[in-house]
Amino acid sequence: MEKTVQLYEGKAKKVFATEDPALCIVSYKDDATAFNGLKKGTIAGKGVVNNRMSNLMMQLLEKSGVPTHFVEELSDRDTLVKKVAIVPLEVIIRNVSAGSFAKHYGVEEGIVFDEPTIEFSYKNDELGDPLLNSYHALALKLATKEEIETIKKYAFKVNEVLSEYFKTLGIRLVDFKLEFGRLPDGSIVLADEISPDTCRLWDIKTNEKLDKDRFRRDMGGVEDAYKEVFKRLMGE
Ligand code: ADP
Ligand code: UDP
Repeated sequence: MEKTVQLYEGKAKKVFATEDPALCIVSYKDDATAFNGLKKGTIAGKGVVNNRMSNLMMQLLEKSGVPTHFVEELSDRDTLVKKVAIVPLEVIIRNVSAGSFAKHYGVEEGIVFDEPTIEFSYKNDELGDPLLNSYHALALKLATKEEIETIKKYAFKVNEVLSEYFKTLGIRLVDFKLEFGRLPDGSIVLADEISPDTCRLWDIKTNEKLDKDRFRRDMGGVEDAYKEVFKRLMGE
């Protein structure tokens, strides 16, 4: 399948149309942003890591009963996916306190929760992706009640499957963001990406951060962290 016209260029990926109107090609860039685009940079090799990791995760999730947009990996950076209408919600699951949770509630990072949490934000760059609850999402007609129930069910399933999987790689899945979309038949599938850009991944033994926080917080070793995740995913 070949790219035809570019439909969209986002902060981390480009999206292209194909000859098949039901499919599009996502192309992963090395560009990195944080704080709603205020901080910009590049992370050499990131696109390759994020493409491969997302595709492995999506395939694992399909096997575990979570439908996804994944169709076929085309190259290092390009993947064929089912074109969806994105539900404008960022769905965040947390297992351990970190980032905005630690900041909002005035607690340290690293508190392991008894149960995972779920939260939504409205995917809207102009508004800075404000936090909302499912009633707000319904009021704004961002999704139906049934869709929100499906999204919650899938998001917790993703957490179960990926937490177990990352444990086998010596990685703790601290938190992550998911996006879902609607297929033409109205069904909900997991879309976008699952990568060190969208997950917090800590080494189980040392708590070393192996994710985009190294970029957000100017910690150094950003490329090496992405490479380390890639190596473990590849079983090296
Ligand atoms: P952003 O838009 O936040 O800058 P990206 O650079 O990752 O993010 O751009 C990719 C865009 O493609 C996102 O807006 C995402 O919601 C959208 N997207 C992801 N998967 C699909 C899909 N299967 N079909 C259509 N759009 C998708
Ligand atoms: N996240 C994301 N995109 C966003 C916001 C958050 O992928 O626009 C991910 C982030 O990488 C982390 C999780 O969602 O794994 C929770 O992020 P948090 O709310 O703590 O916000 P942050 O501290 O990253 O601003």
